[in-house]
Amino acid sequence: MSAVNLLDFDLDALATWCAGLGEKRFRAQQLFRWIHQKGERDFDRMSDLARALREKLAGHAEVRALVPASERRSADGTVKWLFDVGGGNAIETVYIPEDDRGTLCISSQAGCAVGCRFCSTGHQGFSRNLTTGEIIGQLWHAEHALRLQLGLAAGERAITNVVMMGMGEPLQNYVALLPALRMMLDDHGYGLSRRRVTVSTSGMVPMIERLREDCPVALAVSLHAADDALRDTLVPLNRKYPLAELMQSCHDYLARAPRDFITFEYCMLDGVNDSDAHAREVIELVAGRSRAAAPGVRIPCKINLIPFNPFPQSGLRRSPDERVQAFARVLQRGGLVTTIRRTRGDDIDAACGQLAGEVRDRTRVHVRLQRRRETETGAAGHGQGVRA
Ligand code: SAH
Ligand code: SF4
Repeated sequence: MSAVNLLDFDLDALATWCAGLGEKRFRAQQLFRWIHQKGERDFDRMSDLARALREKLAGHAEVRALVPASERRSADGTVKWLFDVGGGNAIETVYIPEDDRGTLCISSQAGCAVGCRFCSTGHQGFSRNLTTGEIIGQLWHAEHALRLQLGLAAGERAITNVVMMGMGEPLQNYVALLPALRMMLDDHGYGLSRRRVTVSTSGMVPMIERLREDCPVALAVSLHAADDALRDTLVPLNRKYPLAELMQSCHDYLARAPRDFITFEYCMLDGVNDSDAHAREVIELVAGRSRAAAPGVRIPCKINLIPFNPFPQSGLRRSPDERVQAFARVLQRGGLVTTIRRTRGDDIDAACGQLAGEVRDRTRVHVRLQRRRETETGAAGHGQGVRA
């Protein structure tokens, strides 16, 4: 039987597990602090735990950290780790230092099933959900590695902000995400405020509602288009949860959100979604004045424009800088707070949408096998060209 990975447990789960060993909650808190605040994996060095408990822990559990396959550092200080998560899959995590903060961009899945046209992860397809331990393991590794590298004093934190904007759609891995979020917020863990933890979603409406009830952190929604026909082609999930439903769930989220606005991300694609008319559609949409989608639903928001980061096979181009500026001006004149995201770490392919890791796409393997079977049984209508 393999040992339990303590990185899979938020504090409540750890307390329950420790109770099974006959230990009080207070002991679970101590253990949790050793693991997450001090980065300790060796039970023997947890000096304020009784020897008997340390022995029990060693017999039943481990702190199974992620295995870094590589660590690359950009000229601008951005760091990108590639973690091997087994089975031919690797995920990426990016640290972005700024004057007043250190942000960690965390992955939630190996690949992504949403399949957005402009996203390199989406092009790879989906392999599997990460476990809670693998999600929090990215923060665990980055925080403790950076403290050493940056020579931080005891008690100083390297990472002040987390954004769930790496590979994957976090709200399609809700069961593993939720305990990981709780660990980020826990005072015995990373002690981040709810305003400093952001979940970014392409629009999983039912899970936005769950998040609002369970753990309302800051919310970013990847919009990219303000009408359904165009958004359907960019973010396939829109066909299931169209803008009217998405806007309503954003509106409802604000009732419990730690910030009084939603961040809308908008990837600027040359000639696709970047005209002045598209910008005016965004203004109408969030003001609740669009007749096509969500009339009457007004959403206080900020718009974050992301110049498209190209990758091979996308067939798309980044909007020219002047176009991005002009688009931003239309939004600003329409009363919307708008920022343009500065590209960080693109010399190490760490910019938004460039995270590719390595993904063994189970869904496509499945399709390939299916096709092969169909050709073998003569069921494929367009048999020519399909090679087994
Ligand atoms: N799945 C979630 C979070 C991960 S993607 C989501 O879609 O929101 C994080 C952000 O990067 C999203 O806003 C996404 O739209 C954006 N993005 C994806 N590919 C990109 C690319 N090639 N260039 C710029 N931004 C991209
Ligand atoms: Fe998935 Fe987000 Fe990429 Fe879309 S943009 S494919 S939801 S990771």
